[in-house]
Amino acid sequence: MTFPLYVIPVLGKSRGLIAIFIFYLILMPIVYSGIGQWDHGEWNSTSVMRFCIISSACIFSAYFFESSSVNAYNVIQDTLKKEQVYLKQLEKLSTTDQLTGLNNRRYFDKQFKLEIQKVQRFSTELSLMMLDLDHFKTINDQFGHPIGDQVLKEFSQLLQSKIRATDILSRWGGEEFIILMPQTSLSNAAIFAEKIRSMIKRHTFETISQLTISIGITSVELDSNGENNAMSKVDKALYQAKRAGRDRVFVSD
Ligand code: GH3
Ligand code: MG
Ligand code: MG
Repeated sequence: MTFPLYVIPVLGKSRGLIAIFIFYLILMPIVYSGIGQWDHGEWNSTSVMRFCIISSACIFSAYFFESSSVNAYNVIQDTLKKEQVYLKQLEKLSTTDQLTGLNNRRYFDKQFKLEIQKVQRFSTELSLMMLDLDHFKTINDQFGHPIGDQVLKEFSQLLQSKIRATDILSRWGGEEFIILMPQTSLSNAAIFAEKIRSMIKRHTFETISQLTISIGITSVELDSNGENNAMSKVDKALYQAKRAGRDRVFVSD
């Protein structure tokens, strides 16, 4: 009678029921042939009926618990899958700039550390480019903040379409952007920067027509302690580009 209690959890619901059916097919002739006893008496219709009722109760219980555990397992699996999706979305949100859809500063900081490790490990070249929109405050004042936002979005898309798949583009903040270029020499970075500058100058923006940008670039080099001052160098290079009259690229030596 307790057979269903073991066989259903072991074989599962469908195969368990088939096994029970076969088990009873074998058992019934044995019972009717008079082998075995029930309550210290002979098998008769009452004892067979009791046997059937108790067996059915066992089958039902085993089936019910098996269904519940399968359901519980499915619910847990679903929850885990949803959790994975939410975690991915959360990670994406925490590393994405809301306005432009580009990577944000947090993402840049993480990638920068990783790329520096590669420079240290493989002695590869790494260049850094900082871009700043010229007189953006005037654009905001003249056309309004929402149009300024539009310009930032369009500018971001333009940059995104120009960089290589291995370059890491992020919005540094406000109207400043940063591009990390792994395995790129300073001279190649300078050529690329000049291409971007002239491309933006030639581009007709939907809302404000013309715009220029200033760019500072530097190569990331590590001293004997593994430290670098690339951020301050690129910042200074950008400042020099602005001071020299904007709409230009300044290479930090
Ligand atoms: P410069 O050529 O020296 O860079 O002049 P600038 O006016 O671009 O520089 P400044 O740093 O003085 O001003 C940057 C402006 O960018 C000020 C701020 O209102 C604007 N800004 C920053 N973030 C956003 C943004 O998300 N949306 C809009 N519309 N404007 C922004
Ligand atoms: Mg600016
Ligand atoms: Mg600025």
